[in-house]
Amino acid sequence: MPDMKYRTILLFGAPGAGKGTQGKILGTIPHFYHCACGDVFRNLTIDNELGRTFLEYSSRGELVPDEPTVRLWRENILVNKQSGRFDPHQDTLVLDGIPRNPTQAEMLRDTLDVKGIFYFTCPDMEKLVERLQRRALRDNRLDDANLEVIRARLETYERDTKPVLDYYGSNLVRTIDATQSPVNVLREILRIIAKV
Ligand code: ADP
Repeated sequence: MPDMKYRTILLFGAPGAGKGTQGKILGTIPHFYHCACGDVFRNLTIDNELGRTFLEYSSRGELVPDEPTVRLWRENILVNKQSGRFDPHQDTLVLDGIPRNPTQAEMLRDTLDVKGIFYFTCPDMEKLVERLQRRALRDNRLDDANLEVIRARLETYERDTKPVLDYYGSNLVRTIDATQSPVNVLREILRIIAKV
């Protein structure tokens, strides 16, 4: 457990909703530190046991088991703290991809001080599927290339991840229409962030 809770904003929404795009931009603003759990996994190599576990689960559109996921995430944040890239006294953590179910939220209860949740909504499933397929080659994402895997991920999101919203409660949630252009999504987020 860290000596203090991290001031945190969660980016929340289905795969393909645009959390990564916005997270990267927000991470360039001084005093915001972006961390995408999926990126932490993708930076592992397959000579690493957890790297192999990640490939096994993500290629089926399933979540990696909670315990190694949270452990890896903690290790990653610690490394970035020690190197000075993340300064919890100054920075707001912009988290994407974790916690991904209520169990992970509970495991991180003493670590995260969640100030707000940006909930990217996209009622049009087909639009999400299209976005994921488009980025498959560009981002070298095997799990985006296969329609069956995409469907499985969307199901996992509905079943396992969405209940995280109830865990934190609706007064933290800010709904953002993710079908807008990236620049308009950004404008909405910045308008909310600038107020707090
Ligand atoms: P997306 O949300 O667009 O599907 P991510 O990069 O966030 O992509 O995640 C890719 C995969 O990595 C997930 O399908 C899952 O297998 C694994 N993963 C990422 N974050 C977590 C997490 N917090 N818990 C369990 N598995 C995770």
